[in-house]
Amino acid sequence: MLDPKFIRDNLEAIAIAAKNKRFEFDPNLFSELYDKRSKYIKETEELRSKRNEGSDAVKKAKSKEERESLVAQMRALGPILEESEKNLREVEKDFERLLLTVPSIASDDTPIGASDADNVEIKKVGEIPRFEFKALDHITLGKNLGIMDFERGTQIAGSRSYFLTGVGAELERAVHSLALEVLKKRNYKQMSVPVLVRTSAMEGTGYLPGGADQAYFVEKDDMWLVGTSEVPLASYHQNEMIEAAQLPIKMCAWSTCFRREAGAAGKDTKGLYRVHQFQKIEQVIICEPNIEKSDILHAELLQNAEDILQLLELPYRVVQVCTGDLGQGQVKKNDVETWMPSRNNYGETHSCSSFYDFQARRLKIRTRDENGKAQICFTLNNTAVATPRLLIPLLENHQTPDGRIRIPKALRKFMDNAEYIG
Ligand code: AMP
Repeated sequence: MLDPKFIRDNLEAIAIAAKNKRFEFDPNLFSELYDKRSKYIKETEELRSKRNEGSDAVKKAKSKEERESLVAQMRALGPILEESEKNLREVEKDFERLLLTVPSIASDDTPIGASDADNVEIKKVGEIPRFEFKALDHITLGKNLGIMDFERGTQIAGSRSYFLTGVGAELERAVHSLALEVLKKRNYKQMSVPVLVRTSAMEGTGYLPGGADQAYFVEKDDMWLVGTSEVPLASYHQNEMIEAAQLPIKMCAWSTCFRREAGAAGKDTKGLYRVHQFQKIEQVIICEPNIEKSDILHAELLQNAEDILQLLELPYRVVQVCTGDLGQGQVKKNDVETWMPSRNNYGETHSCSSFYDFQARRLKIRTRDENGKAQICFTLNNTAVATPRLLIPLLENHQTPDGRIRIPKALRKFMDNAEYIG
């Protein structure tokens, strides 16, 4: 959420930013509601102070007649104040709802574009394998090795569902163990988090109101299943004033993530790429409101993910995401895409985003500047690893001519020192 006054003072800039991000923003509606709200705030405050002055005057009245006349005036004021408060409450409700939909402005270095086709590659790392045998896709490899079961997944849980079995499940666990080990060494505090959360946490992190279609809602309990542990992690410090000396706060969490993938019908329907339930380690940082420092931490989050991919010996590229592919609150984003031989292309495996104050304003996470003045913090996040999607490049890039999978060195200690699967 942006500062309402900032929006009111920069309607034109927000309208352009919203258009670039492909979000709706009606400057006329915003200014109309903002001005109406300001008018009722002013009116209500004036009436309240009149009432307070009146009760002081009653106390100080010198005669019975004077007191009775003042009391009568105050009685007459009562319904007017009530009416004004009611008007204010109503306009506040509409205003708050509208405010939650206003997108943030993309950073200056974000390329302008309509969709992921306009994202800009900024670097490529690692060698794309050239197979001298008929390379198999992860579905065939998984079936041949007996480490995945899509038939039972679908029978039991419907489309986009799977089981990882035996060594498949061990491989997934090993990838997460490696990522957690890397993050622990870099002083990210590991958290075990709730994945069923209240609407306030979803709204606070910006997943609501816009993303209701993508999330599973448990109606009976008025709770949401999170699509990422960014939601509980970023919300952890909601409504807090954090000492500047404690910042930046670096956290990570392993969690199951749930996504309806509405709108993705017919897309990536086979295999492990786009599923309804997956496991992800997310990194989240809360930092002081300083763009330079936030940018340095953004680079750090990205580097963590890259280092893990290098330990997994996987070729990848980093792209600068364009405006049209940014979320409502994201100010800038780098996607990391890992080489997936069966797609003959890179596929997104990580998403590193800076939000500046967008989430923290909604979550009311604050700190004090050197003058003791309260300031809204900044937040950022990035995937550390997400499986099963990451198993696609892991299996496909490391397959051998005899149908086995070479386990990257860094993973072996989590897999009984085995060198191969199969
Ligand atoms: P996001 O939070 O949407 O930026 O996604 C972060 C990462 O989670 C992606 O780069 C993928 O690796 C993984 N991911 C997201 N959605 C899915 C999905 N439906 N199925 C499998 N993995 C996913």
